Amino acid sequence: MFSNWLWHRPLDLLIDAGEGLQLMLGQKVWAPEIVAITHGHADHLLGLPGFIASRRFGKGAQDKPLTILYPEGTTGVEAIRELTGRLWSRETFPVTWTPITEGHEQPIGRTRTLQAFASRHNTSELTLGYRVVEARKRLKPEYAGRPEADIRDRVRALGRDAVMDSYQHVLFAHTGDSMPIDPDLVTKADLLVHDATFLTADERKWDIHATAGEALEVARAAGVGCLLLHHLSIRYERGEALPALRALVAASEFSGACWLLDDNWLTSLR
Ligand SMILES: [Zn+2]
Repeated sequence: MFSNWLWHRPLDLLIDAGEGLQLMLGQKVWAPEIVAITHGHADHLLGLPGFIASRRFGKGAQDKPLTILYPEGTTGVEAIRELTGRLWSRETFPVTWTPITEGHEQPIGRTRTLQAFASRHNTSELTLGYRVVEARKRLKPEYAGRPEADIRDRVRALGRDAVMDSYQHVLFAHTGDSMPIDPDLVTKADLLVHDATFLTADERKWDIHATAGEALEVARAAGVGCLLLHHLSIRYERGEALPALRALVAASEFSGACWLLDDNWLTSLR
C-alpha cells in the first residue's frame, strides 16, 4: 500500500514507480526501457526521481534511453518531471516524458505494442491501465485439419494471407488501481495483474478499487491464463487473508493459475 510498481522482465517494462524501486532493482536499473504510469497517486510515483538518478549517475548504461508514459494532466508526474529538471539542471538525461490518453499505442520491438486503456480509480485525474499485445497469425478455420501439402499449395498459388488470419494476442495486462475492468480488454491474456484491494465489497467505501472476487470474475470471463492479484489492503492480517483468498479462488469458476503479489513476494493461491 505504500509503494507500488511491477517490473515485467521479458518485456523490459515497468508499470508504475513506487518509492524504493531502484533499491530493489539494484544493478538491473538499466534494464527497463519504458515506465508506464497508471495514475498520479504518490505511492505509484515517488520512486521515479531515485530511479532516474540511479540510471544517470550509477556505473552502467547511463545513456540508454528511457520513455516515461503517463496519463495526460497528472499533477504528481508533472511535479516530479519539474523536480528532476530542477535538481539536475546541468545534467542531460536520456528521458522522454510522454503524456498520453486512452488508446495510446507504444511499439515494443517489431511485433508487440503497449496499449493504454481507461480504468476507474482516481476521480479527479485520468487513470490508465495497460496491455501488451503481440501481432500473430493463425490458420483460417476452413483450413484446419487439411493436409500440410494442400495448405502449402494454397500458399504458393494465393499467398500467405489467403490461408492465414492475423490477430492480436494479449501477452500481459495491468489494471493499476482500478475497479474491475472490462474482460473484453484482456481476452485470453497470458497474464493479468488486477487490483484486489478488498476481500469483500462491503468493506469498500468508494468505488475506486476492486475486490478479489471481482478480479477473479474478470479473469474467468476473459479466459486469462494467469491472474496476479495485487494491492491487497493493509487492513488484512496476512495470516488470515491468505486462507480467505485461497477459499475465494477455490470457490470461483476461474480455472487458471492465481497468485498474490504482496510485499515483493509471489504466493500461489491454489
Ligand atoms: Zn491510487
